[in-house]
Amino acid sequence: MTIIDGKLTAQQLRAEIAAEVAEMVAAGKAAPHLVAILVGNDGASQTYVANKEKMCGECGFRSTVLRLPAETTEEELLARVEELNNDPEVDGFIVQLPLPKHIDEQRVIEAISPRKDVDGFTPINVGAMVLGLECFVPATPAGILELLKRYNVPTSGKKCAVIGRSNIVGRPMSILLSQKGWDATVTLCHSRTANLAEVVREADIVVAALGIPGFVKGDMVKEGATVIDVGITRVAADNARGWRVVGDVDYDEVAPKCEYITPVPGGVGPMTIISLMKNTLIAAKRRK
Ligand code: NAD
Repeated sequence: MTIIDGKLTAQQLRAEIAAEVAEMVAAGKAAPHLVAILVGNDGASQTYVANKEKMCGECGFRSTVLRLPAETTEEELLARVEELNNDPEVDGFIVQLPLPKHIDEQRVIEAISPRKDVDGFTPINVGAMVLGLECFVPATPAGILELLKRYNVPTSGKKCAVIGRSNIVGRPMSILLSQKGWDATVTLCHSRTANLAEVVREADIVVAALGIPGFVKGDMVKEGATVIDVGITRVAADNARGWRVVGDVDYDEVAPKCEYITPVPGGVGPMTIISLMKNTLIAAKRRK
């Protein structure tokens, strides 16, 4: 059994990105610039944005966080998005989700210029991804593919079960793994899937992205499978913080049966943030 080390892989990628940025800067070009818009005071969102800001620093990027009050109107937010779309100093930007309830998230996402949509959430980017065209691949699926590539996990002809059909993880993951080059035969499972355990038990590769701690049990996974655990749920713990993070896979039961497995924490999580950096670097390289 091989534990796929997302933390280490993300560090290697970070070093590669930082080296490219240093070259760009040495050639007289501006370092990539990522902007994050954060609306309101959601605790988890603040942590995510702080982590992205820190990673920008470590990659040699410029970064800006636009902190807007929770009562920001949809029109005000759309105006900020338009400003960033037109700002030549900004290579890419993200609108941290979730947004306050009074704002239509989809409308805001659709207002982002696809050229700067480094989260890969706009319909234009999603459409390009489905067609296998040049696009920004959403960060979590991009990070998972990078792990599969760097650990030489075979995907061609393999049966793959993706659990969870969200627009940011499960659905794009299922599309990407079925594409030429990855060539897996994918079943996308969700809350209405009948006989889900049977489908998962047949899979050579399982991607669990549903947000239910320990959902994938040992008896749901076949011997020699590769298991990618995307889940991140905070549960109460007897430590200084009072919580710890757990995944969607019952690691103790599942790991002994696996050829490859990602741990939580230290698996997919660190790859997500570095993949956002990679998308921003790509955006900066496309800059006119
Ligand atoms: P989501 O919360 O938007 O949706 C959950 C999905 O799981 C839905 O499609 C639903 O159909 C499916 N589902 C729910 N119950 C199910 C059941 N009993 N059986 C089968 N399917 C079921 O999904 P999300 O935003 O992709 O998040 C999923 C998990 O991944 C969460 O724990 C989230 O925190 C985590 N996450 C981690 C990263 C990372 O970087 N590691 C990134 C994004 C999300």
